[in-house]
Amino acid sequence: ATPTALLVGTGRGAQLGILIKGPEVLESTRRVDTVVLDKTGTVTTGRMTLQEVRVAEGADEKQVLRLAGALEHASEHPVARAVAAGAAERAGELPAAERFENVPGRGVRGRVEGHEVTVGRLFDGPLPEELAEAKKHAELGGRTAVVVGWDGEARGVLAVADAVKETSGDAVRELRALGLRPVLLTGDNRRVAEAVAAEVGVEEVIAEVLPEEKVEVVRRLQAEGRTVAMVGDGVNDAAALAAADLGLALGTGTDAAIEAGDLTLVRGDLRVAADAIRLSRRTLGTIK
Ligand code: ADP
Ligand code: MG
Repeated sequence: ATPTALLVGTGRGAQLGILIKGPEVLESTRRVDTVVLDKTGTVTTGRMTLQEVRVAEGADEKQVLRLAGALEHASEHPVARAVAAGAAERAGELPAAERFENVPGRGVRGRVEGHEVTVGRLFDGPLPEELAEAKKHAELGGRTAVVVGWDGEARGVLAVADAVKETSGDAVRELRALGLRPVLLTGDNRRVAEAVAAEVGVEEVIAEVLPEEKVEVVRRLQAEGRTVAMVGDGVNDAAALAAADLGLALGTGTDAAIEAGDLTLVRGDLRVAADAIRLSRRTLGTIK
């Protein structure tokens, strides 16, 4: 491609809401055949809300909310924000945590009101039937189930809902029309991921991936001979965005993601990912 054509393409990108790190990025965009989509905050809005609370027999709902909320209050994760806000709304003022530890991709743990509390995927004991059922019910509906436990026992399940962005279904259709294979990638539970995938029309789902494993998923697809674009917004997507043949960061996302990406989709609208591919094919096509 001539430098002029690439510069024109770059300028056209800016008009579409695509910030391109360098003109050469358009070259790699053209070869992409697979688009890996992060779920939370990319396909979905990432603005989560606490929707349902189910507690174990004999457990006190307000206490479950207080202890979970106290720990989540200290975390920035979208799930944590939903739990902390919902807990404060339903159970009033939250106590201060005596100790707090954030475990990326899993949840939070710490000490509150004298109890050793875990929130999220950190509880490893068995769930009583009523909680196992509440968890499964939430997940089949595409909601993230957050298990709250302390002193070795599961005490409650909080269902946290996220909404698919209005434009995500159209975006997936456009990507497919361009001959690309969409893949949904998430640290969330498989059932939740499959519910979201079905809603937007993605068939291939890679779920329950730890933050540091997202990059390995990209490398594995590349090792299979695919040219991979990755679209993400989170700190936990940064390494995968950097490893992808083309990293597309959402402008609504974290600085870490934006720095790691080759392109930024300014408005956070996934349809613009398809615009980016089209733009690069057109830019490079004109001068072939
Ligand atoms: P994603 O890939 O969807 O952005 P993460 O890798 O950040 O998600 O987290 C994976 C899963 O771990 C979440 O869906 C949630 O179930 C759990 N999790 C992570 N952080 C927290 C937290 N602070 N509180 C509760 N659960 C959490
Ligand atoms: Mg995300």
